[in-house]
Amino acid sequence: MTNTHTKQPHVVRHPIVVIMGHVDHGKTTLLDYIRKTNIVAREAGGITQHLGAYEINWNGKQITFLDTPGHATFSLMRERGAHVADLAILVVAADDGVKPQTKEALEAIKKAGIPFIVAINKIDKTSADIERVKGTLAEAEVLVEGWGGTVPCVPISAKSGEHVDELLNTVLLAAELEELTAELDVPAEGVILEAHLDSRRGPTATILVTNGTLTRGSFILCGETFAPVRIFESVNGEAIEKAGPSTPVRVAGFNEVPRVGTLMKTFESKAELEKDFKVVEALKRKKEVAKAGEVGILVKADVIGSLEALEAEFKKIIPEGLEVTIFDGGVGEIGEADVKLISAAKRAIIIGFHTKVKSNILELAERLKVEVKLFNIIYEAIDWTKERFDELRPRKIMRVPTGKMIVLKVFKSNSHGRVVGGRVREGRVPKDAQFEVLRGDEVVARGHIKGLQKNKAEAEELVEGNEGGLLVEVSRAIEERDVLQFFYEREA
Ligand code: GDP
Repeated sequence: MTNTHTKQPHVVRHPIVVIMGHVDHGKTTLLDYIRKTNIVAREAGGITQHLGAYEINWNGKQITFLDTPGHATFSLMRERGAHVADLAILVVAADDGVKPQTKEALEAIKKAGIPFIVAINKIDKTSADIERVKGTLAEAEVLVEGWGGTVPCVPISAKSGEHVDELLNTVLLAAELEELTAELDVPAEGVILEAHLDSRRGPTATILVTNGTLTRGSFILCGETFAPVRIFESVNGEAIEKAGPSTPVRVAGFNEVPRVGTLMKTFESKAELEKDFKVVEALKRKKEVAKAGEVGILVKADVIGSLEALEAEFKKIIPEGLEVTIFDGGVGEIGEADVKLISAAKRAIIIGFHTKVKSNILELAERLKVEVKLFNIIYEAIDWTKERFDELRPRKIMRVPTGKMIVLKVFKSNSHGRVVGGRVREGRVPKDAQFEVLRGDEVVARGHIKGLQKNKAEAEELVEGNEGGLLVEVSRAIEERDVLQFFYEREA
């Protein structure tokens, strides 16, 4: 739906800023200072909640600050296609310089392709050395103003607030150069910045609206979670009716806690949301089917009662060693969706009870190697399934030794195989047995008997002490003095 709208006039939107840098260089202190001095907020009893984002007003202009996400989270959001930040502030401590996480942050900023401003922090400290920090920045290929580069750089103290105003002015100036715009009259797009299970309000999230306008009364889908836009607030806790681009908002009442970094889609009605959610659900189930064990079986029936009865019975007859996952196909006729869904399983079966299937669906099933069986009598369905499970059960092959023969003579091989003569040392040699060729203690070949002779006549078997001739097929040449160890293979 977002692709079909006619081009809307773009409006200027305010910047979204992320603060990054090495641990302990002062990111949190800086954000706290900015919030405390600029938010016209009713802070809940002074408790600092981590909401994922804050909005501030500076000289009559708005700036949205993201709550210092880890660099990994920031990169993850970007990989998902979320354009979360327009600008970064890279905090570098004046008494420390560029550190490993400073480099990580630079990497993330570079990948995001956004401009950044360096804030050299802690200049109130006696050990602060601004010029040395600029030097370490140059080594990291960050050339700040005055050092042959164009990267804005503001020395500050997040603790005392010194020059933080200048930093904010620089942010606004840089944002202006970016000419940030967005559309207003389109369904809102956004990204989940923070989400948690609120003890009072259930699954709650902070969402950054990145484009369009989110309005009360609409519905949102974020990955596999959704919510009505009803408990709808600004990040300062005030109920709102709508929120435009670059605005962080809070929405409570999700069906589940959404994942940070997932993108948001908006719908005007619940019916529209549900249409889309069905697709999401179907995809989720498909993943589950693909994860199913050996056999995936989908049950479809005329009424819920039969469906549940069949599922319960099928569970009871799963043989040991066979992994069977039973899927509830619901009631109704077997359709394309059922076939496609279950076809993701390694062995796919659909059992229909008092239901129908169209011939084109059967053709599809055949192509996708899905077995479809229809029944009208419950015990017949169970019997058939039980048999099928038994056939599909992985077999254990057991070897039953029968006897040993020493090879006395090897004749020339012909097109039918190789003829060897020997004497049975122990047990018996039945004419349909298989054998291994032992040379010393080592098994050197495997084969099976194709013909057996005793006293130059066809015979059924040789027993201990007998001499006879065997026509064999063998994987490698047999030599005189080899021992043939005969056996049968049996299913356990
Ligand atoms: P973060 O890990 O980057 O979020 O760093 P914090 O904001 O937690 O700061 C780490 C430590 O540095 C804390 O003890 C702060 O009080 C201190 N700090 C932060 N900014 C300043 C500053 O401008 N001057 C001084 N003297 N200390 C600061």
